[in-house]
Amino acid sequence: VSTNLVSGPEHTMSFVTMDCLFCRIVSGEIPATLVRETDTTLAFRDIMPKAVSHILVIPKEHYADVATLAQADAKLASDVLETVAIVAEHEGLVADGFRVIFNTGEYAGQEVSHVHAHVLGGEPLGPMLA
Ligand code: IMP
Repeated sequence: VSTNLVSGPEHTMSFVTMDCLFCRIVSGEIPATLVRETDTTLAFRDIMPKAVSHILVIPKEHYADVATLAQADAKLASDVLETVAIVAEHEGLVADGFRVIFNTGEYAGQEVSHVHAHVLGGEPLGPMLA
């Protein structure tokens, strides 16, 4: 697995895996429509939106899924949730409500093995498992 150093303050430096699609977005190799960036997180629009607003929030550092992230780095998991909340507010989703989904593993249909929160809203979303 090849790695590339992400620039940033020394204490937040981390390695990304360049065979991971979302690591490539973090490094700028693959373009994305960015919504928000912090030292540790990135929010960008889903390329195939499933709702009027569909944003993905990721940690810049590579973790496979939310369970792995939460156990390895609770502060970073909290950073991701904070960015979710700020993005929802900036997108105007808070008043009417929105949905946050972390697909985790095969049964959930997780396609990209870099933890990401789907933030969905801007219209009624219907029952979750419809
Ligand atoms: P998962 O099924 O939870 O892993 O979701 C992966 C999401 O990534 C899907 O909703 C895809 O539409 C989205 N996606 C895949 N490639 C890109 C991209 O290059 N930019 C933005 N979103 C992407």
